[in-house]
Amino acid sequence: MLDYDLHCHSNISDGTLTPAEVVDRAHSRGVKVLALTDHDDTDGLDEARSAASQYGMSFINGVEISVTWRKHTLHIVGLNVDPNFAPLQQGLLSVRSGRGARAQKMSDDLARAGINGVFQGAIKYANNPNMIGRTHFARYLVEAGYCKDVKSVFNRYLVIGKPGYVPHQWAELKDAISWIKGSGGIAVLAHPGRYMVGKHSMGKKTMFELLSEFVALGGQALEVVTGSHTAEQYAEFAHYARQFNLFASCGSDFHGPGESYRDMGRLPDLPMICRPVWQAFQ
Ligand code: AMP
Ligand code: MN
Ligand code: MN
Ligand code: MN
Repeated sequence: MLDYDLHCHSNISDGTLTPAEVVDRAHSRGVKVLALTDHDDTDGLDEARSAASQYGMSFINGVEISVTWRKHTLHIVGLNVDPNFAPLQQGLLSVRSGRGARAQKMSDDLARAGINGVFQGAIKYANNPNMIGRTHFARYLVEAGYCKDVKSVFNRYLVIGKPGYVPHQWAELKDAISWIKGSGGIAVLAHPGRYMVGKHSMGKKTMFELLSEFVALGGQALEVVTGSHTAEQYAEFAHYARQFNLFASCGSDFHGPGESYRDMGRLPDLPMICRPVWQAFQ
C-alpha cells in the first residue's frame, strides 16, 4: 500500500469535503504525502496545506486542468505548481469561465428530454458556483430519483449521445502544460485508461500519438495507478510510461465518501518498472 495520494478533490471543485476535511481523511487513512488536485482551481491549497502541516504530512500543491485534444477531453494534473504564477491563474480563470454557460446548456438539453430544473438543482451542490460541472448535475439527478448513484448517471446522462451532453472547448494541451511547467510544476497525464471513444479505449495508435505530443510539449509523467484503472491497466500504462521515459504517478481521484472508485490511501504499489513521480520533486 502506498502512502502517497497525488490526486483528489475537495468542494472547491466537485468533491464533497472541504480541503481541510480531505486532509483529515487522508491522514486518518495513512496518507503521508498528499496532493490536492481540484479541477481548474487552486483555491483550496492554502487551507489544505495548513491542515496537512498540523498533522506533519507532506503536502504538494496540485491542480487538474481540463483540456480538449482532438475530440477528446483530457485531464492534465499539475504537481508542485506555484499557484501564484500569474499565467497559471489567468489560464485557470479562462478554463472556468465557460462552465456557467455550459451548465445552462446542459440543463436546457435535459429539459428537452423532459427533466426540468436541473441547473437550479445542481447549483445547490456547487460550493464554488464558478466550478459547476457534471458531478454536481449527477448528484442532483440522484437526489431527484433519476438514478441510484452518481456513477450510474454517467451511463444514461451527461455523456456523448445522451441527454445533458454538451460539447465544450477546454484548454489547449500545449497551454495547460506550459502553465504547469512555467509555474515550476510537473505535468501528469491523468487516468489515461479513461479516454474512451464510445465504449472502447482511444486505441493504441491514438494513445501513442497523444503520448508523443505530450512528451514533445514537456509533459513528464503518466498516472499509472488511479482509482479508475484496472490491474491490467496498471501494467499497460506502466509500460507506456517506460516506453516514453515518463515518471509514474498514483492517486485515488477521491471525490467524497461513498462516491469514488477508491477511497483515499488505499492504492496498490506502482509496478516495479516505474520511476515514481516523487523522484522528480525538488
Ligand atoms: P466536468 O469537468 O464538468 O466535465 O466533469 C467531469 C467530472 O465528472 C469528472 O472529474 C468526474 O468527477 C465526473 N465523472 C465523469 N465521468 C464519470 C463516471 N463515468 N463516473 C463517475 N464520475 C464521472
Ligand atoms: Mn471530478
Ligand atoms: Mn479527471
Ligand atoms: Mn480528478
